[in-house]
Amino acid sequence: MSSPLVESTERQALRRAVGDLARRYGPAYFQAKARAGEATDELWVEAGKLGYLGVNLPTEYGGGGAGIAELSIVLEELGTAGCPLLMLIVSPAICGTVIARFGTAEQKRQWLPGLADGTRRMAFGITEPEAGSNSHRITTIARRDGGDWLLSGRKVFISGVDRADAVLFVGRTEDATTGKLKPALFIVPRDTPGFEYRPIPMELVTAERQFQVFLDDVRLPADALVGDENAGLLQLFAGLNPERIMTAAFSLGIARQALNTAVEYARTRTVWDTPIGAHQGLAHPLAQCAIEVELARLMMQKAAHLYDAGDDLAAGEAANMAKYAAGEAACRSVDQAVQTLGGNGLTQEYGLAALLTATRVGRVAPVSREMILNYVAQHTLGLPRSY
Ligand SMILES: Cc1cc2nc3c(=O)[nH]c(=O)nc-3n(C[C@H](O)[C@H](O)[C@H](O)COP(=O)(O)OP(=O)(O)OC[C@H]3O[C@@H](n4cnc5c(N)ncnc54)[C@H](O)[C@@H]3O)c2cc1C
Repeated sequence: MSSPLVESTERQALRRAVGDLARRYGPAYFQAKARAGEATDELWVEAGKLGYLGVNLPTEYGGGGAGIAELSIVLEELGTAGCPLLMLIVSPAICGTVIARFGTAEQKRQWLPGLADGTRRMAFGITEPEAGSNSHRITTIARRDGGDWLLSGRKVFISGVDRADAVLFVGRTEDATTGKLKPALFIVPRDTPGFEYRPIPMELVTAERQFQVFLDDVRLPADALVGDENAGLLQLFAGLNPERIMTAAFSLGIARQALNTAVEYARTRTVWDTPIGAHQGLAHPLAQCAIEVELARLMMQKAAHLYDAGDDLAAGEAANMAKYAAGEAACRSVDQAVQTLGGNGLTQEYGLAALLTATRVGRVAPVSREMILNYVAQHTLGLPRSY
């Protein structure tokens, strides 16, 4: 990984710099904040000032002018240091990308500088209770009322609503209420009348909470619509592919944190005559995990490269594969790390047990393991669709 043939010296420098920042906070800071239900704002603010949160956004709006490859490095290194900031997946990666690519000049001016330096945050809402994985079934509807829109519907599992300035919601217009999804994206400030949200109690040790959202005839100006209401799925996937790549980075950071903790422990913990890391029963599964993490990271880099180069179609397949591989590698790595520490694997002091549920997120969201296997079976292998 340290060779410039695999990763440019600029990207390696970014990796080191983000790691240096995040290690000053570390897992003890992150988990204490999460358990207290407090925000990790100190780290967010500092990362924003240093330009890490908006590294992918255009320079004319205060961003770093780089791509999802760089933003995924930021998230991976934050996670490796024990601080996986979930909102990076949502605010700069999905919302920032969609607005930068499809927003009006006014939407860019209004939102991108704040998303780039972290002073403003945006959540993203597509999931609905009845539709679940089948986004073609979403029923959040935007009706025209004079020059305004009236948005109504219900969303679930929306991350970070309580600390977001606005949410980018995926709905459908009244002209396209049924059938294959023709998504329409709306920026909805959180304080808009008719917008309510309630936290969902989750077994996750993260600073970001998930919410049910109720939209009851939320009145929005015409310019709340992002881009073209006929741009359809292309515009949506401009945000969903970065989401998948960033979820891979989220999983890989956690996996690396767990493996580092386990290896450090296994080097020194001695209960017979040699450190436990000398026993192949522990060393081999850790080595397998290290290989799986590295392979998943290569796939993530391929996906980010394709996305940043503008090949949305090829990026879609690679992003799905990267998200799958990273999710699996992370679940196995954290499980093996817990096993390596024995009883200490389940203590709060070592912070590994909290990662068990965090890594499960990478198997379920934003698209489940099974839906990725469906996609690969159908699109990569050409097998018939079963659903
Ligand atoms: C921590 C967390 C944060 C989240 N944050 C956000 C957010 O910020 N914004 C947002 O919009 N959403 C968010 N989500 C929602 C997430 O994207 C969904 O949970 C996910 O898409 C799965 O939908 P579902 O939970 O309704 O599961 P379901 O669709 O009900 O699926 C349940 C199970 O059935 C399987 N299944 C479904 N269909 C098929 C099929 N055809 N073939 C095989 N198996 C199938 C699935 O793989 C899964 O295992 C978040 C979820 C979590 C857990």
